[in-house]
Amino acid sequence: MGAGLCGSLFSIMLAKQGFSVVVRERRINPRSDIGVKEAGKSINLAMSVRGINALKYAGIFKEVESLLIPMKGRMLHYQDGRNELQSYGQHKNEFIYSISRSRLNHMLIDAAENCGVDVKFKHTIVSYDEPQTIGIKSPEGEYKLKAEKIILADGSSSLIRRSYNDNDPIFPKEYILPHSYKELSIPANENGSFKIEKNALHVWPRGQFMLIALPNPEGDFTLTLFMPTEGEKSFSALEKEKDIEEFFSEYFSDALPLIPDLTSQFTNNPTGSLRTIRCKHWHDKDNFLLIGDAAHAMVPFHAQGMNSAFDDCVLLDTIIKNNNDWHDIYQKFEETQLPNANAIQDMALENYIEMRDGVLDKKFSLKKELSFALEKHLPSYFIPRYSMVMFHGEIPYSVSQERGEIQKEILDELTKNTDNLNQIDFNQAEKIIKQKLTPL
Ligand SMILES: Cc1cc2nc3c(=O)[nH]c(=O)nc-3n(C[C@H](O)[C@H](O)[C@H](O)COP(=O)(O)OP(=O)(O)OC[C@H]3O[C@@H](n4cnc5c(N)ncnc54)[C@H](O)[C@@H]3O)c2cc1C
Repeated sequence: MGAGLCGSLFSIMLAKQGFSVVVRERRINPRSDIGVKEAGKSINLAMSVRGINALKYAGIFKEVESLLIPMKGRMLHYQDGRNELQSYGQHKNEFIYSISRSRLNHMLIDAAENCGVDVKFKHTIVSYDEPQTIGIKSPEGEYKLKAEKIILADGSSSLIRRSYNDNDPIFPKEYILPHSYKELSIPANENGSFKIEKNALHVWPRGQFMLIALPNPEGDFTLTLFMPTEGEKSFSALEKEKDIEEFFSEYFSDALPLIPDLTSQFTNNPTGSLRTIRCKHWHDKDNFLLIGDAAHAMVPFHAQGMNSAFDDCVLLDTIIKNNNDWHDIYQKFEETQLPNANAIQDMALENYIEMRDGVLDKKFSLKKELSFALEKHLPSYFIPRYSMVMFHGEIPYSVSQERGEIQKEILDELTKNTDNLNQIDFNQAEKIIKQKLTPL
């Protein structure tokens, strides 16, 4: 159910295993409506290793590769006008990539259809009354869809998941962040070139709020403002044109001239909410299974929602290939992936604080440089947490989180009395690391 990013990709994998797959999707066919943005969804996404590995696993990475724009690091735009590019990684190809959500989704739906998947649009799930049977509303009327197995990839507002609110075995909980987001755009120069550095993810960190920008293939950037929903500096305080202009000229003076129609964009573009969805279980006996955002939507600050949804697809497909018992399959999937989902959801929340505020800390750059130095010095023991999540698909999120906590303590200890990398005692560092961390 759902022909978003996760449902489309998983249908390809199942079809390649020889299953007869039908996909039902609420939206109109997105390929007939190119460029129209769906409410509540970002225009572009950052893809990293887990997303790329999943596309390779499904045999469709070649089609996607040309859509990717490498982002080598975070370009920080400080309020005093200074810019600083902080690399995401230190090894060759440790980049993340900007990709258009709609192009990726179109490509995945095309590939699914080419594999024989029967995809129908404007077919909305409306009920779930009996096992293996879903009520669907379509332009031709309502009907019951009976399937041997039902996989729910219908996103963060999954109807069936919500029908379990406060009820076992799914017991889903939605945690709404008190911050929201709004997307704006920096157009390309007239000749199609980029107005700011193309190969970076731009961040304007301002403590309680931040602006970010990701490049698009046509030379424009999608900007996203994240800030509190209510309060003194908040979306609710920015209703009048004058207030919007004053706010941008005070906090984002270098971005302001790049957004020619700021106030009309700001007033007309929707403000989206952000949430984390945690479930006790992802399946009810073996009647259906939740995957992707339907199972574990997260805030977007680690850029892992889609990447982790794609990781779900690979794991589930692999388990299905090696098992005939559906209850065991669902159980195994959940046992492996639930701790990972919980871990990346936590890290995504933490990363918001790092991106908008942590990077402004005097010790932030030192700790980042030190992390890279320790990775060089002891590569089998110490990999920066960001690198484990973004560049090491073989390290589960839960392991990155656990090791990340220990590494944070080590970095705090080593930088306690200095602001200078040259004053770090690497012999002492090695001793502490080997005491506290096992080799990877
Ligand atoms: C602002 C923002 C920025 C983000 N940036 C990133 C990023 O940089 N990197 C990253 O990895 N992730 C990012 N994400 C997260 C990412 O968008 C999601 O994790 C990803 O879309 C999940 O895919 P999905 O297929 O599970 O869900 P969705 O993409 O939501 O797809 C669900 C599909 O189900 C359909 N559907 C819903 N209800 C029904 C119904 N009743 N009947 C039939 N069909 C239905 C929907 O129409 C939709 O097509 C971001 C999210 C947001 C909000």
